[in-house]
Amino acid sequence: MSQTRPRIAIIGGGIGGLFAANAMIAQGLDVSVYEQAPELGEIGAGFYVTPNSVRHLQRVGLGPAVEKWGALVGEGSQYLRDDGTIIAPVQVTDAAGWNATYGMHRADFVDLLAAALPADVIHCGHKGIKFEQSDDQARVTFTNGVQIDADVVIAADGIHSELRPNVYPPSTPVFHGTISYRGLVSRDRIPDWPMDRWLMWAGPSKHFLVFPVRHGEIVNYVGFVPTDEEMKESWSAPGDPDTLRAEFKGWDPRIEHLLAQVDHTFRWALYDREPLPTWTKGRLTLLGDAAHPMLPHLGQGANQAIEDGMALAIILAQTDKTSVPAALHAYEKLRRERVADVQQGARQNGLRVDSMSDYTDLELRDAELAAHADFRKHLYAYDVVPEAEAAAAAL
Ligand SMILES: Cc1cc2nc3c(=O)[nH]c(=O)nc-3n(C[C@H](O)[C@H](O)[C@H](O)COP(=O)(O)OP(=O)(O)OC[C@H]3O[C@@H](n4cnc5c(N)ncnc54)[C@H](O)[C@@H]3O)c2cc1C
Repeated sequence: MSQTRPRIAIIGGGIGGLFAANAMIAQGLDVSVYEQAPELGEIGAGFYVTPNSVRHLQRVGLGPAVEKWGALVGEGSQYLRDDGTIIAPVQVTDAAGWNATYGMHRADFVDLLAAALPADVIHCGHKGIKFEQSDDQARVTFTNGVQIDADVVIAADGIHSELRPNVYPPSTPVFHGTISYRGLVSRDRIPDWPMDRWLMWAGPSKHFLVFPVRHGEIVNYVGFVPTDEEMKESWSAPGDPDTLRAEFKGWDPRIEHLLAQVDHTFRWALYDREPLPTWTKGRLTLLGDAAHPMLPHLGQGANQAIEDGMALAIILAQTDKTSVPAALHAYEKLRRERVADVQQGARQNGLRVDSMSDYTDLELRDAELAAHADFRKHLYAYDVVPEAEAAAAAL
């Protein structure tokens, strides 16, 4: 088998592409990553990893790095009304009670994923623009004139994916009428902030989320506000801290206290796409946001990309060059339904927290937020590995 193991090219060195490369190296596969940017990097914002992906990070040897760079959030995590009234605890463990929910600085996470890869795996300054394939081989051409041949090409090139139209005709992303303001505040500036919890305030049509990153040195905040403005040109842009402060004026004084320390903020328009009917064509498949961009209201976009990478690595480890198209279909079949449920769940959660234009249904909304713990327990308990092993065995 090792003689005929496929050569794999991943286009896109974001969280999805870099984790997939780690999972493939752990399976002894031959993989290269091509990233358009001259060097790897990420925006100054946080995200959180949850037990359903942390179990895979541990399996490929990244558990200690996650513990080192992450900030574990625990039992004090809460949903609150805009005035600070406590609604319910936030579920941070899986159904077995395992707590592995960490706030992460995006740049730290990209660094830890890249640092674990052999030096010759990542090729920066390679923007993929053209994909061709025959029955035997696939080829990617980059803007720098380089062409590479591979047995498998994985498009992990994000929501604007350049390669996706080779799989499915272009579609229009769905704008959800919400902008998120994101940013970081050093703990030194708010020394009294609790660094062991995830807190979310839900008010009329808006919500505000805070959790720690970088083992508690930095606080990450996200303020979600409605807007009529579609940010067509650029989906992220610098924001005005005073406008952000005005949006949450009169909310829990803790929010005003934190926002008083904000010097810079970023606006991020919230888009997703309808689930694609297919992710694969021949030797090309999609992974992460290229396949399934989703709203951030379950914090699952990157976590689902990690599940994708783990599944694909396990399946490709049992694949020879000739059976690549069948293997990619098996991956897609395994992942598409799970991810469509999570995409839908993120939309529903967004409606739950952002559609309250008045307070008439507040009790109902609060009850739904409390009951949501059950959904998260099962979301986090899911382990893609046994299913991927079964799919690989059936090839
Ligand atoms: C406000 C907000 C909060 C979020 N919070 C969370 C959270 O808490 N938890 C979570 O799991 N997810 C969260 N997400 C979602 C998460 O950020 C994304 O799902 C995740 O980053 C997707 O990773 P990716 O690698 O698929 O794509 P990307 O991160 O977009 O990476 C794509 C990479 O491909 C490169 N690239 C693009 N085109 C090309 C090309 N043609 N050739 C070569 N390289 C190319 C890009 O430069 C980039 O490095 C959040 C999103 C938003 C907007």
